[in-house]
Amino acid sequence: MTVYFIILLPSAISWAEEASPYARAAAAYQDRRLDEALSYAEEAVREEPGHVEAHLLLGQLYYLRQDLEKARESWEQALKLAPSRRDVRERLEKLQKEAPLERGLSRNDTAPFVVRFAQDQIGPEREDLRPILQETYRQVGQSFQYFPDYPITVILYPASSFEQVKGISHRVAGLYDGKIRLPIQSGGPVQSGPGDALKAILWHEYTHALVHDLAKGRCPVWLNEGIATLQEARVRPIDLRLARGILDKGKPIPWEQLWKEEYDQGDLELHYAQGYLITQYLVKRFSWPDLVGLLKLLGQGYPIVDALRAQYKEAPVALEKEWLSWLNRQ
Ligand SMILES: [Zn+2]
Repeated sequence: MTVYFIILLPSAISWAEEASPYARAAAAYQDRRLDEALSYAEEAVREEPGHVEAHLLLGQLYYLRQDLEKARESWEQALKLAPSRRDVRERLEKLQKEAPLERGLSRNDTAPFVVRFAQDQIGPEREDLRPILQETYRQVGQSFQYFPDYPITVILYPASSFEQVKGISHRVAGLYDGKIRLPIQSGGPVQSGPGDALKAILWHEYTHALVHDLAKGRCPVWLNEGIATLQEARVRPIDLRLARGILDKGKPIPWEQLWKEEYDQGDLELHYAQGYLITQYLVKRFSWPDLVGLLKLLGQGYPIVDALRAQYKEAPVALEKEWLSWLNRQ
């Protein structure tokens, strides 16, 4: 599961602004050169204290470094300059929920992961997590041929606190919102549970991180979830009963409707399941490198229809037809 609205996408850069510190900060942020982005963003707010987006981005960079106090200051500054910005307000509200839970956390690093946890709440389980993180980095990275080298924050919560940060849906197992957030059942080793539950969650959320970087935050929800679930399926089987039931009655969601990305909560599961089945088809019929190509086209700003056509050299309508007959053969 990812939280889409909250992952910051820098605003469009005007031609006149192209060489400004803010533009450089935004470009570095999108390429995940986070240290460089931070120093440009600091320069940007020094030079232009009234630049709302610069404060917003600076706050995000502090936020990713887990410097929550400075993140709060930057976002409050942004809100002061633009009091009507709902997105800034929401960011601050989210931070206010997280900050008390994340105060005074200990660190345990497994490069590139920076693992944070409450010493008194998460016990020896965190040591079990180390090899799982390393394996995730290698194995999931292999599919995408992408191995990030910037610090990725992973926050471990006792299951009860996780309830407070996730906030959205009761079905959420883990979360990626620029940081990977994982619930840990206290008491037992992390690997316990059916089918390596924690590992499966981690593979899923880490995939979101890679997809986010490759598509520069422009991957549609159904595809993003489909890809994450496809990686998750390498660890544990996916429950597709609901989707199969609907698909068997011949009622899949037309692709065109998927593009529109208007989901009501009740449809979400079917959207995700169908996203998974489409992604599975694309990878089986074509390949992982093709899928990475598709993500990169999205990252360049292609709408999904054009990206599909350019990558797979077929009209999406034709692909959809082939997908349907593939589905019926399953
Ligand atoms: Zn997900």
